[in-house]
Amino acid sequence: MPEHETIVALATPGAESALALIRISGSAVSSLINSVFPKKSPPPPRRAIYGDYKALDGSLLDQLVYVYYQGPASFTGEDMLEMSPHGNPYIVQRIMEDLCARGCRIAEPGEFTRTAFLNGKLDLTQAEAIVDVIRARSEKALTVAQKQLSGSLGTAVEPFINTLLQVTAHLEAYIDFPEEDLPPEDVEGPLSGLNKLINAIDELLATVPFRRRLHDGVRVVLLGEPNVGKSSLMNTLLGEDRAIVSAEAGTTRDYLEDKLLIGSHLVRLTDTAGLREGGSAIEQDGIRKSLRLASDADLMVIVVDGSAPPPPFATEWATLFETIPVLVLENKIDLGEDPAVPAFLPQYTHAKVSALTGQGVGSLRGILKEQMDKHYGGVDSSEIALSSRHADALREAREHIVVGLAQLKENLLPELAAVELHLAIEAVGRITGKIDNERMLDELFSTFCIGK
Ligand code: GDP
Repeated sequence: MPEHETIVALATPGAESALALIRISGSAVSSLINSVFPKKSPPPPRRAIYGDYKALDGSLLDQLVYVYYQGPASFTGEDMLEMSPHGNPYIVQRIMEDLCARGCRIAEPGEFTRTAFLNGKLDLTQAEAIVDVIRARSEKALTVAQKQLSGSLGTAVEPFINTLLQVTAHLEAYIDFPEEDLPPEDVEGPLSGLNKLINAIDELLATVPFRRRLHDGVRVVLLGEPNVGKSSLMNTLLGEDRAIVSAEAGTTRDYLEDKLLIGSHLVRLTDTAGLREGGSAIEQDGIRKSLRLASDADLMVIVVDGSAPPPPFATEWATLFETIPVLVLENKIDLGEDPAVPAFLPQYTHAKVSALTGQGVGSLRGILKEQMDKHYGGVDSSEIALSSRHADALREAREHIVVGLAQLKENLLPELAAVELHLAIEAVGRITGKIDNERMLDELFSTFCIGK
């Protein structure tokens, strides 16, 4: 952003509310305060001050509270002003127009955070975490987002860059002194360092589905014959009439899904078309879709009518997706229990409910929570939610490291390996946006003695 530009944006939704928040950042902030609130200028930083906002034509727009932040001790690193007028979209619009008339420019999306990044107030992973914190809809998602906001991902990839820098510095020394061959014993250290690094990258890459579950929800798919009460259960769990309920078999031909919170987990609950042999072409299509959805599930809930003999072919559904956790749900317990039901898929936990009377629904929530805690764990300090941008960068780095390793092993050619490792450093550096050549040079001269 050019020096003279001072940006302004409404940081709260543009709807009627008790208060709104207008943010301003840039070099003109202090002169702006001087002209809008002349009586209380210059204001002490980080203090809430009550003042009259008068437009350029002298009309009173609002009585409001404002806070001045003196750069670099501000979110963006520049001088900032935050004003809280009443949450009236008309007042907000008048103030924004007046600020533009005084020389401010409406900020681009994300421009405050971008300025903060460019001024070194946070790294890229922290900037991205701001969005995650705002969008988190469960305790787990929020915990991980807040960790990332305090720099957990940056801290996790920092050692990757350090290892790459050390190995590269080691190789560069031999490139600078080509008369010296790289002795095999000197390759062993870098080789083992790079192999360990690949393992560490793989561990981090394995967290990609974790992020999907945090933000999209743990996929819980209800699967079962038509008419066993899947739609009724979905409605009961959601506490509203979201799915279509009908006494006629085969009405949920497509699928319905909605999100709900169970314990600290965000759950994406999907009600599928009923599975049964035969049926129309449309129904068969729905069944194919159900099976596809089930194969993608994090937890498969096989719903049966607990008062009737279980369907013989249902055992196949469970074995189709052996890697997915399964819960058997005996519905309609208000009608009694058929003696064959307890022996149906006995290897899995059974829950008994009545979607009609609500009996057992509380304990069903408890069982679902237990299953998700068991399979998709609590949050511990090592848990990191890698986004696809982070994962792409790490995969690219991994590829370069693998090629570099092979070159080192086969030809003992440090130049080629060093080029690959530089590319890997660049790729990892893109995650935080911090790496630069300056640092590479610092590392080279500080950790490796080349003055022989
Ligand atoms: P789906 O085809 O599996 O989605 O089943 P629905 O939710 O449409 O329900 C089919 C029929 O079973 C409807 O008439 C529901 O009212 C009834 N039903 C659902 N759950 C229960 C239950 O727990 N007890 C009894 N008695 N009837 C139920």
